[in-house]
Amino acid sequence: MVKKKCFFGIKTDRQVDGDKMNAKLSQEVLAQGGENAAINACMQCGTCSGGCPNAERMDLLPRSLVLMVQRGEWEKVLKSQTLWLCSSCHTCTSRCPRGVRPTDVIEAVKAIAIREGIKNDSVRFNQIFVELIEKRGILFEPELMLKYGGLKALVDQAELGIKLTLKGKLSPFPPKVKEPKKFSEALTKAVKK
Ligand code: SF4
Ligand code: SF4
Repeated sequence: MVKKKCFFGIKTDRQVDGDKMNAKLSQEVLAQGGENAAINACMQCGTCSGGCPNAERMDLLPRSLVLMVQRGEWEKVLKSQTLWLCSSCHTCTSRCPRGVRPTDVIEAVKAIAIREGIKNDSVRFNQIFVELIEKRGILFEPELMLKYGGLKALVDQAELGIKLTLKGKLSPFPPKVKEPKKFSEALTKAVKK
Protein backbone atom coordinates (compact mmCIF):
# COMPACT_ATOMS: atom_id res chain seq x y z
CA MET A 1 0.00 0.00 0.00
CA VAL A 2 1.34 3.43 -0.94
CA LYS A 3 1.91 5.54 2.16
CA LYS A 4 0.12 8.89 2.03
CA LYS A 5 2.15 12.05 2.25
CA CYS A 6 1.32 13.88 5.45
CA PHE A 7 1.07 17.55 6.33
CA PHE A 8 2.79 18.30 9.62
CA GLY A 9 2.80 14.55 10.21
CA ILE A 10 -1.00 14.35 10.14
CA LYS A 11 -2.26 11.70 7.82
CA THR A 12 -5.28 12.80 5.87
CA ASP A 13 -7.42 10.59 3.68
CA ARG A 14 -8.62 13.63 1.83
CA GLN A 15 -5.32 14.33 0.14
CA VAL A 16 -4.91 12.80 -3.28
CA ASP A 17 -1.92 10.58 -3.91
CA GLY A 18 0.01 11.59 -6.99
CA ASP A 19 -0.95 8.37 -8.74
CA LYS A 20 -4.66 9.12 -8.25
CA MET A 21 -4.46 12.54 -9.84
CA ASN A 22 -5.92 12.86 -13.27
CA ALA A 23 -4.34 15.79 -15.01
CA LYS A 24 -6.87 16.08 -17.86
CA LEU A 25 -9.47 18.12 -16.02
CA SER A 26 -6.80 20.21 -14.27
CA GLN A 27 -5.30 21.03 -17.65
CA GLU A 28 -8.70 22.04 -19.01
CA VAL A 29 -9.14 24.29 -15.99
CA LEU A 30 -5.74 25.85 -16.62
CA ALA A 31 -6.64 26.41 -20.27
CA GLN A 32 -9.91 28.10 -19.32
CA GLY A 33 -8.26 30.87 -17.33
CA GLY A 34 -7.32 28.99 -14.19
CA GLU A 35 -3.59 29.26 -14.92
CA ASN A 36 -2.88 30.74 -11.48
CA ALA A 37 -5.24 28.43 -9.62
CA ALA A 38 -2.43 26.26 -8.15
CA ILE A 39 -4.81 23.29 -7.99
CA ASN A 40 -2.18 20.74 -7.05
CA ALA A 41 -1.05 22.74 -4.02
CA CYS A 42 -4.33 22.05 -2.21
CA MET A 43 -3.82 20.23 1.08
CA GLN A 44 -7.55 19.76 1.73
CA CYS A 45 -7.55 21.80 4.93
CA GLY A 46 -11.10 23.07 4.32
CA THR A 47 -10.40 26.71 5.15
CA CYS A 48 -12.03 27.71 1.87
CA SER A 49 -15.24 25.82 2.66
CA GLY A 50 -15.31 27.18 6.22
CA GLY A 51 -15.40 30.77 5.00
CA CYS A 52 -17.71 30.37 2.02
CA PRO A 53 -20.93 32.37 2.51
CA ASN A 54 -22.85 30.07 0.15
CA ALA A 55 -21.54 26.75 1.50
CA GLU A 56 -24.85 25.75 3.07
CA ARG A 57 -26.55 25.44 -0.30
CA MET A 58 -23.68 23.84 -2.19
CA ASP A 59 -23.58 20.14 -3.04
CA LEU A 60 -19.79 20.24 -3.41
CA LEU A 61 -17.92 22.53 -1.06
CA PRO A 62 -15.00 24.45 -2.58
CA ARG A 63 -12.56 22.05 -0.92
CA SER A 64 -14.32 19.03 -2.42
CA LEU A 65 -14.60 20.68 -5.80
CA VAL A 66 -10.84 21.26 -5.92
CA LEU A 67 -10.35 17.62 -4.90
CA MET A 68 -12.68 16.38 -7.67
CA VAL A 69 -10.78 18.46 -10.20
CA GLN A 70 -7.51 16.92 -9.01
CA ARG A 71 -9.04 13.47 -9.37
CA GLY A 72 -10.47 14.32 -12.77
CA GLU A 73 -14.03 13.50 -11.76
CA TRP A 74 -15.63 15.38 -14.64
CA GLU A 75 -19.18 14.25 -14.20
CA LYS A 76 -19.46 15.18 -10.51
CA VAL A 77 -17.78 18.53 -11.08
CA LEU A 78 -19.66 19.58 -14.21
CA LYS A 79 -23.05 18.63 -12.78
CA SER A 80 -22.44 20.31 -9.44
CA GLN A 81 -24.79 23.10 -8.39
CA THR A 82 -21.81 24.75 -6.71
CA LEU A 83 -20.78 26.22 -10.06
CA TRP A 84 -23.98 28.24 -10.16
CA LEU A 85 -24.20 29.07 -6.48
CA CYS A 86 -20.72 30.55 -6.20
CA SER A 87 -20.98 34.33 -6.11
CA SER A 88 -17.28 34.86 -6.92
CA CYS A 89 -16.74 36.70 -3.66
CA HIS A 90 -13.12 35.43 -3.50
CA THR A 91 -13.28 34.75 0.26
CA CYS A 92 -11.97 31.21 -0.31
CA THR A 93 -9.15 32.47 -2.49
CA SER A 94 -8.09 35.16 -0.05
CA ARG A 95 -8.03 32.69 2.86
CA CYS A 96 -6.31 29.73 1.27
CA PRO A 97 -3.02 29.09 3.08
CA ARG A 98 -1.54 27.38 0.03
CA GLY A 99 -2.27 30.02 -2.58
CA VAL A 100 -4.91 27.89 -4.31
CA ARG A 101 -7.57 29.94 -6.07
CA PRO A 102 -10.87 28.02 -5.75
CA THR A 103 -12.75 30.96 -7.29
CA ASP A 104 -10.68 30.67 -10.47
CA VAL A 105 -11.21 26.91 -10.49
CA ILE A 106 -14.97 27.36 -10.23
CA GLU A 107 -15.04 30.06 -12.92
CA ALA A 108 -13.02 27.85 -15.27
CA VAL A 109 -15.16 24.78 -14.64
CA LYS A 110 -18.26 26.90 -15.21
CA ALA A 111 -16.92 27.95 -18.61
CA ILE A 112 -16.26 24.29 -19.47
CA ALA A 113 -19.79 23.32 -18.36
CA ILE A 114 -21.32 26.02 -20.56
CA ARG A 115 -19.17 24.91 -23.49
CA GLU A 116 -20.28 21.30 -22.92
CA GLY A 117 -23.90 22.46 -23.10
CA ILE A 118 -24.79 21.58 -19.51
CA LYS A 119 -28.33 22.81 -19.04
CA ASN A 120 -28.89 24.89 -15.98
CA ASP A 121 -31.34 27.51 -14.84
CA SER A 122 -28.53 29.89 -13.95
CA VAL A 123 -27.10 29.68 -17.48
CA ARG A 124 -30.56 30.44 -18.87
CA PHE A 125 -30.93 33.36 -16.47
CA ASN A 126 -27.51 34.74 -17.49
CA GLN A 127 -28.34 34.38 -21.18
CA ILE A 128 -31.64 36.24 -20.80
CA PHE A 129 -29.89 38.92 -18.74
CA VAL A 130 -27.24 39.45 -21.43
CA GLU A 131 -29.85 39.49 -24.23
CA LEU A 132 -31.84 42.20 -22.43
CA ILE A 133 -28.76 44.30 -21.76
CA GLU A 134 -27.80 44.02 -25.43
CA LYS A 135 -31.32 45.05 -26.41
CA ARG A 136 -31.79 48.09 -24.14
CA GLY A 137 -28.43 48.78 -22.59
CA ILE A 138 -30.09 48.80 -19.20
CA LEU A 139 -32.12 46.29 -17.28
CA PHE A 140 -35.89 46.48 -17.03
CA GLU A 141 -36.51 44.06 -14.16
CA PRO A 142 -40.16 43.14 -14.94
CA GLU A 143 -39.06 42.12 -18.45
CA LEU A 144 -36.35 39.89 -16.99
CA MET A 145 -38.84 38.38 -14.59
CA LEU A 146 -41.32 37.67 -17.39
CA LYS A 147 -38.75 36.07 -19.70
CA TYR A 148 -37.18 34.00 -16.96
CA GLY A 149 -40.13 32.88 -14.89
CA GLY A 150 -43.11 33.57 -17.17
CA LEU A 151 -46.35 35.32 -16.29
CA LYS A 152 -46.65 33.44 -12.99
CA ALA A 153 -43.31 34.83 -11.72
CA LEU A 154 -44.40 38.32 -12.73
CA VAL A 155 -47.73 38.01 -10.90
CA ASP A 156 -46.03 36.46 -7.83
CA GLN A 157 -43.67 39.42 -7.58
CA ALA A 158 -46.29 42.07 -8.44
CA GLU A 159 -46.80 43.19 -4.83
CA LEU A 160 -43.07 43.72 -4.31
CA GLY A 161 -42.83 45.48 -7.68
CA ILE A 162 -45.58 47.93 -6.72
CA LYS A 163 -43.91 48.68 -3.37
CA LEU A 164 -40.58 49.31 -5.09
CA THR A 165 -42.24 51.52 -7.70
CA LEU A 166 -43.97 53.60 -5.03
CA LYS A 167 -40.62 54.10 -3.31
CA GLY A 168 -39.03 55.16 -6.59
CA LYS A 169 -36.75 52.12 -6.71
CA LEU A 170 -38.29 50.61 -9.83
CA SER A 171 -39.48 52.31 -12.95
CA PRO A 172 -42.86 51.13 -14.29
CA PHE A 173 -41.59 51.87 -17.81
CA PRO A 174 -38.49 50.52 -19.57
CA PRO A 175 -35.60 52.89 -18.82
CA LYS A 176 -33.25 54.11 -21.55
CA VAL A 177 -29.49 54.59 -21.63
CA LYS A 178 -28.43 58.20 -22.14
CA GLU A 179 -26.03 57.51 -25.00
CA PRO A 180 -27.04 54.27 -26.72
CA LYS A 181 -24.40 54.65 -29.46
CA LYS A 182 -21.57 54.92 -26.94
CA PHE A 183 -22.98 52.01 -25.01
CA SER A 184 -23.19 49.87 -28.11
CA GLU A 185 -19.57 50.69 -29.01
CA ALA A 186 -18.39 49.83 -25.50
CA LEU A 187 -20.30 46.55 -25.61
CA THR A 188 -18.81 45.57 -28.96
CA LYS A 189 -15.34 46.35 -27.60
CA ALA A 190 -15.96 44.25 -24.48
CA VAL A 191 -17.28 41.29 -26.52
CA LYS A 192 -14.20 41.43 -28.79
CA LYS A 193 -11.93 41.29 -25.74
S1 SF4 B 1 -8.16 26.48 1.68
FE1 SF4 B 1 -6.79 26.04 -0.03
S2 SF4 B 1 -5.54 24.30 0.64
FE2 SF4 B 1 -7.31 24.44 2.01
S3 SF4 B 1 -8.84 23.05 1.07
FE3 SF4 B 1 -9.24 25.09 0.29
S4 SF4 B 1 -8.12 25.21 -1.63
FE4 SF4 B 1 -7.29 23.47 -0.48
S1 SF4 C 1 -15.80 32.60 -4.32
FE1 SF4 C 1 -17.48 31.13 -4.40
S2 SF4 C 1 -16.69 29.28 -3.44
FE2 SF4 C 1 -15.33 30.96 -2.88
S3 SF4 C 1 -16.09 31.69 -0.92
FE3 SF4 C 1 -17.05 32.95 -2.49
S4 SF4 C 1 -18.99 31.93 -2.97
FE4 SF4 C 1 -17.70 30.45 -1.85
